[in-house]
Amino acid sequence: MKRLSEIHGSLYVIATPIGNFADLSARAVQLLKEVEGVYAEDTRTSQALFREIGCNPPVQSLHEHNELERAKQVVSRLQAGESLALISDAGTPLISDPGYRVVAACHDAGISVVPVPGACAVVAALSVSGLPTDHFCFEGFLPARSGPRQKRLDSIAKWPHTLVFYESPHRIEATLADLVLCLGADRPATIARELTKRFETVRRSTLGELAAWVAEDSNQRRGELVLVVQGAKEAPIEGALTLEVPDLLAVLAKELPPKRAAAIVAQLSGHDKRDLYKSLVSSKDAE
Ligand code: SAM
Repeated sequence: MKRLSEIHGSLYVIATPIGNFADLSARAVQLLKEVEGVYAEDTRTSQALFREIGCNPPVQSLHEHNELERAKQVVSRLQAGESLALISDAGTPLISDPGYRVVAACHDAGISVVPVPGACAVVAALSVSGLPTDHFCFEGFLPARSGPRQKRLDSIAKWPHTLVFYESPHRIEATLADLVLCLGADRPATIARELTKRFETVRRSTLGELAAWVAEDSNQRRGELVLVVQGAKEAPIEGALTLEVPDLLAVLAKELPPKRAAAIVAQLSGHDKRDLYKSLVSSKDAE
């Protein structure tokens, strides 16, 4: 068979499966068999992959604690003419995984870096989310503690494009509660769990309903998951806002409790519902 790694001295950034082994591409298999060395996030995880495909390349670890030091080593091996591969435990390297410093060092040294695309949880989740995908922002993992997490969510609550988050199963309940608080219970969202695996689950609903579902069913707090959230509705043009929003709020507040009125106007206008609620309460106090 013709060698794929003909250009010696290249770094191949190879995607591996996120669950289903059949997602490993034929090109990835061939390159992993041909390269002189592999840099892997966890050498034991990579051994399982090599057993599956029947190869045994020399492997070195590459993780966030040794990445800078490894970058120098990778560059000098590539400059000596070796072909090397970079893989992570699952999915596409560098996507919430190590490798960026190594790739940057290769570019700085004029070394060619070759992508070998494949599975990636962000893209897989987006592709089944049923939410707009023309513009999206990958937010990776939110802060683990609620205070900084809410701060981050407040800062992105009005972004109009779809938001994608990675989250660990033991934090999903708390994160959904913060999402409801900061982005509103009515915001459309999709949970994509255990993609390409036996218990794959994709549910599209609203943040409020998803929060209740995950709280009720402990199975939804297992495995790996991606959260996709629709962007905020575009706020209307500024001049129109100041004229219409207070009127709308005042009319609705005559018919509904203030919180409900504020939530509906927030959904229609793109304003923060807490700001609207505050303005409603303060205008009532002033009467
Ligand atoms: N590099 C990987 C990629 O290309 O998707 C991501 C690595 S990141 C450390 C691991 C996170 O990816 C998990 O916490 C989860 O949010 C997401 N993830 C990975 N595999 C998944 C799967 N099969 N189903 C759903 N989410 C997954």
